[in-house]
Amino acid sequence: MKNKDMSNAKQIACDTLAWRETLITMVETLSGAFFFIDDTQTIVYANASAQVITGATLEELRGNPFWRSAPQLVSTALYQAVLTTRQTQEPTEVEYCSPVTRSWLHVQLAPTVGGVMLQFHEVRAPAQRQELVPTSQPLSGAVLDGLHAGIAVLTPEGIVLEINEAPLDGAHLRREEVIGKPLAETPWWSFSPANQEQLRAAIARASTGETVCFEALVRPREELFLHFEVAIIPHVNADHHIEYLVIAGIDITARKRAEGEIHALIDAIPQLVWTGRPDGYVDYTNQRWRDYTGMTTEQAQGEGWMQTLHPDDRQRVLAVWQSAVQTGQPYEVEQRLRHGTTGAYRWFLVKAVPFKDAQGTILKYIGTCTDIHDKKQAEDELRVLIDAIPQFVWMIRPDGSSTYCNRRWRDYTTMTSQQSQGDGWLQAIHPDDYQHTLMVWHHARASGEPFEIEYRLQDGKTGDYRWFLGRAIPVRDEAGQIVKWFGTCTDIEEQKRAEQQLKASEENWRVLAETLPQLVWTTGPDNRLDYCNQRYCEYTHATLEQLQGYGWRQFLHPEEAEGVLAFRHQTLETGEPYESECRLRNGQTGEYRWFLARGMPVRDETGQIVKWFGTNTDIEDQKRIEEALRQSQARVRTLTDSKLIGIVSNEGGEEVIVEANEAFLQMTGYTQEDIDRRTLARARITLPEDAPLFERALQELAAHGQHAPFETELVCKDGSRLPILAGGVLFQDDPRQIVAFMLDNSARKELERRKDDFINMASHELRNPLTILKLQTTLLHRQLAKQGLQDVAPALSSMETQINAITRLVEELLDVSKIQAGRLEYLQEMVDLDALLREIADTMQQTHPSHSILVHSSVQASLLGDRDRLAQVFTNLLSNAIKYSPDAQTVEVELSSSPETATVRVRDHGLGIPREQREKIFERFYRAAGPQQRAIPGLGMGLYIVAEIVKRHGGTITVDSEVGKGSSFTVTLPLTRGA
Ligand code: ADP
Repeated sequence: MKNKDMSNAKQIACDTLAWRETLITMVETLSGAFFFIDDTQTIVYANASAQVITGATLEELRGNPFWRSAPQLVSTALYQAVLTTRQTQEPTEVEYCSPVTRSWLHVQLAPTVGGVMLQFHEVRAPAQRQELVPTSQPLSGAVLDGLHAGIAVLTPEGIVLEINEAPLDGAHLRREEVIGKPLAETPWWSFSPANQEQLRAAIARASTGETVCFEALVRPREELFLHFEVAIIPHVNADHHIEYLVIAGIDITARKRAEGEIHALIDAIPQLVWTGRPDGYVDYTNQRWRDYTGMTTEQAQGEGWMQTLHPDDRQRVLAVWQSAVQTGQPYEVEQRLRHGTTGAYRWFLVKAVPFKDAQGTILKYIGTCTDIHDKKQAEDELRVLIDAIPQFVWMIRPDGSSTYCNRRWRDYTTMTSQQSQGDGWLQAIHPDDYQHTLMVWHHARASGEPFEIEYRLQDGKTGDYRWFLGRAIPVRDEAGQIVKWFGTCTDIEEQKRAEQQLKASEENWRVLAETLPQLVWTTGPDNRLDYCNQRYCEYTHATLEQLQGYGWRQFLHPEEAEGVLAFRHQTLETGEPYESECRLRNGQTGEYRWFLARGMPVRDETGQIVKWFGTNTDIEDQKRIEEALRQSQARVRTLTDSKLIGIVSNEGGEEVIVEANEAFLQMTGYTQEDIDRRTLARARITLPEDAPLFERALQELAAHGQHAPFETELVCKDGSRLPILAGGVLFQDDPRQIVAFMLDNSARKELERRKDDFINMASHELRNPLTILKLQTTLLHRQLAKQGLQDVAPALSSMETQINAITRLVEELLDVSKIQAGRLEYLQEMVDLDALLREIADTMQQTHPSHSILVHSSVQASLLGDRDRLAQVFTNLLSNAIKYSPDAQTVEVELSSSPETATVRVRDHGLGIPREQREKIFERFYRAAGPQQRAIPGLGMGLYIVAEIVKRHGGTITVDSEVGKGSSFTVTLPLTRGA
């Protein structure tokens, strides 16, 4: 098999060779130049005509690139046709004017296996031929030749398809020397491998569809070097295939030279300088810059310079730079640049200004870097210092926008530096203080004067406001222009609060001072009055101005003025609070009133007296009361010391004497020790039988606070008895305190005793002659009757009546004496009250015909007693009833009884007895005081005896009466006595 294949291959090879020969012969015979090129556009075959045109043998041509070997034939149109033929595999025709020979060529192209066949015919240049040139073809040689710039059309591989006249002229080259050759091998570029490499790399990039721009040094001819700005633009067909490249180069040598000069100049500047293109591309850095950074200009170009920036600054700086480039504004930024050798960073202020042409188009940026490291460091130190200050520190521009706020401000407001910047800082001010702040600020801005202002700033954390004192001073440049304001805010919240409190307390104090009923004043340490309340002014009827200083002194009483002032002077020295009394004149009435002046010093922290606060209290009334009290006390003392009346005060249930005056001690012989030992209880110094009197007095005290004086006796220290008249007032209720008064009653008692003795003696003395007189009259009556001397009978009867009356009087007197002496005797017998009453009534009726005596009795009541004495009781009552009812017709006697008692009531319709006298009528010798009663004779003994007898029978007597209507006496007697 193998052999067979081998032989087949051989056979085919022989056949192919034969075919080739035939073909070549055929092609040679064809008119016009004829080329076969393969897919790499390398010449495979060229016929004789082609050899003539190219001026080379087939051997020389074969294996060489077509475009290079036949530059006379090259054009972009041909190149395009070759591409089209290969792409479409269809025959194509193209006609064009050779850029080299300027002869018109008609080319027929046909696809072959692995290549293209081209047949060239020279044709005449007809006038219309122009239109054969595709209108889509902008870069015909003719067009390009009109341009000054160097322009060429290249294949994507870099082979020159067309080139215009200008560069050829400059290089003294003919077109055919260039066309078809790789551009890199042309004289412009071939002088240096680096240049060639630069171009090749650019072409390679452009072949990928990218427009590539770069600057390059080219050498058109020996000794001539030019700077070119080169652009390679790829041309893309409808199928997005890159058909060819257009390369354009502009001679920028002159500019470069100028730049070079500038760079030389810049290099001489001892500052770091750089330049940038309008698009922001940094294109140059000066010697100083390079020395500092250790970077070459090439390294720094574009964005290479960023590498020397501190990493922390890069983003910020780039943003500022880009924004400056976009807006065309000057560029200014602080940044750190690395020192190339030490690696240390230093701060620079980098500024760049755009350099513009007459039309205002930016041509370049020129930048400088100024070393501000030391300043910045000093600033940083200052900033640290400022941040350490317990105040807010800030700077604002003359327009009021903030440029700096220290940390403390930021911490307090919780604003960032950015937020504070511009007008942001105003947000921290309390809305109520905002307008005022603005006003003060505008004023300061207009005047250029330092200013101070108090305002509230908000604590960003809590939302609360605190008071601050803001102070600002302007900072001026050499020309005196304000460049900024430097300010601080000091927290004065505590101070403010204290101030407010002080204000409030002062206000309170003043209100208090004005509401006080006293005269209120304050003086300085020198006693000069600096404030007084309205009341002071009203009292003195003077204004504050008149009272101020020492004006107040004129109102002092002349008698005391000197003393008062001396005293005040002394207190000023000692600094002690004082009280003194003085009289002040009422400014309106001119009269003086007493005041109590009180002064109190107020001291500062050092203990120095800064003020005196004082009040004058009107004590006139108090003074008067005191005086009255003093007088009354004096009077009381006179009374207690008078020795006329014994005064004791006793306490508690036992009424122990706790205090006694001298008079009492003298009266009773007790000593002060007895009093102090509290041994003199009432029971000890009074008689047991008088206890009821005292009990009654106590009841009276409880009811009325005092009791009517009564007679009693005191048991003296030596056991003797002292008659007294006792009175008392209740001083205090619980515990009970009684003040008792005792008047020595012994003299009166003695007199009474003597009077009683006299009455007793007189009545005894009278009774005997009376008894005889009565006996004699009776005898005489009888004798005269026997003698028949009837006409003297009335006279005798009258005599007897008078004697009876005197006898009864004397009897009564005797009875009274006996009662007084306790010697009245009583019988014990059964007495029938009913019978007794009727008997008395009968007797009385006979002697008193003027009245009808009516007896109402339906009960039998007997009791044990003295019949005559009881008869004396009722006779007395009946006789009074008749006597004191002169105009009445009747008197009534009524007897009633209960199992225990018998009650006799004697009633008349006469004068009646006034209430206040009702109790007294039972007293000895007491007679009612009315004129009508006085007209009726009597001695005031009857009821005394009656009461005594009733009492001795264990009964009671009461009176009920109405003046003008009559009285009713009720006697109640026990039926079974002692039972
Ligand atoms: P006299 O001798 O004055 O009557 P009495 O002791 O009998 O003395 O009475 C004392 C006083 O009481 C009398 O002075 C009289 O003023 C008054 N009196 C007594 N009984 C009556 C009565 N029935 N009506 C009015 N007054 C009376």
